[in-house]
Amino acid sequence: MMKEIYLDNNATTKVDEAVFEEMKPYFCELYGNPSSMHYFGGQVQSKTTEARKRVADLLGASPDEIIFTACGTESDNTAIRSALEVLPDRRHIITSRVEHPAVLTQCRNLTTKGYRVTEIGVDGAGRLDMEEYKKAIDDDTAIVSLMWANNETGVIFPVEEAAAIAKANGAQFHTDAVQAVGKIPINMAASKIDMLSLSGHKLHAPKGIGALYVRKGTPFRPLMVGGHQEKSRRAGTENAAAIIALGKACQLAGEFMESEKTTVKAKCERLEKELLAAIPHARINGGGADRLPNTTSIAFEFVEGEAILLLLSELGICASSGSACTSGSLEPSHVLRAMGVPFTCAHGSIRFSLSRYTTDAEIEAVIKELPPIIARLRQMSPFGREFLK
Ligand SMILES: *Cc1c(COP(=O)(O)O)cnc(C)c1O
Repeated sequence: MMKEIYLDNNATTKVDEAVFEEMKPYFCELYGNPSSMHYFGGQVQSKTTEARKRVADLLGASPDEIIFTACGTESDNTAIRSALEVLPDRRHIITSRVEHPAVLTQCRNLTTKGYRVTEIGVDGAGRLDMEEYKKAIDDDTAIVSLMWANNETGVIFPVEEAAAIAKANGAQFHTDAVQAVGKIPINMAASKIDMLSLSGHKLHAPKGIGALYVRKGTPFRPLMVGGHQEKSRRAGTENAAAIIALGKACQLAGEFMESEKTTVKAKCERLEKELLAAIPHARINGGGADRLPNTTSIAFEFVEGEAILLLLSELGICASSGSACTSGSLEPSHVLRAMGVPFTCAHGSIRFSLSRYTTDAEIEAVIKELPPIIARLRQMSPFGREFLK
């Protein structure tokens, strides 16, 4: 079997071996319920308490501001629902056109429940239109939900500034920070953000665990009701092993933060630079904007992203396209469309997302293999041949 070259870390990540070791005893040996009164459950509870502290430390938060959930999607849904319940007289929601479906689908569904939803646009580099945002917000706005960093392009939004504006207007502010946590420094102690979502499987913890940060004093209503877990803010028996894993993953992310900024970023920049040098009619989606150190979305004109992905996949190289195959028709991603990326570019957009495990040899393999693939596909396409003549 060939060894994969995994450059799709914004989709999901490998569980760190140390994270796996940390969670292992909590399946077959220390399987107690952390809410139980006996010593056996207590052993688990002391570990989940440690995990909560580790997550809080990565965010510059306090442990009781962390609520464990099942995923980033649940955290996003909880935050928005909660704000609408605690501010029932306000019927307006602000989000952006480039959010993850975990936010966008919910907001769009809420329009059928009588809520007014404004989706703020972005410019050609994926930057949030702050003027449009300032005009849209008013005393009817209950919640502003803006992502910290975009999963497709890595573009970073000025969420601190946006949060201050929301607070000045009496609205709650939530950020989907699933792609930001562990990649760029976050300090909630010095922030006006009310709620923040994160997801374990995007930072080397397993799938099926997430967290929602809720600032102390922020009015909150749970989505899941039942038992008194998570101080009645999220009912359901704690996924103890996964919580412990998330804690370890956050601790490691803190330790690797510096190398994210240097090593990972350097590899990502090298990939961009050498691909652009080797391939004509290519450009970076979101180039010019402030971006995550690990993400690059590159548009190759006059080729189909899916074709590139399949040929890369045959070589063991895993990346992602800027298109989503919906019911058989290939639609360019809503993110690239919102940025006004021309159709011919959006269709040939490939996202590479690196991690601390990405090696120089892997980057070199892509730099070697991709240019001939693009050239071949352009030769095969009548449109590409015509245009590139
Ligand atoms: C992956 C992702 C989510 C969803 O997280 P899950 O844990 O998979 O539900 C939400 N927002 C962003 C930006 C993501 O990248």
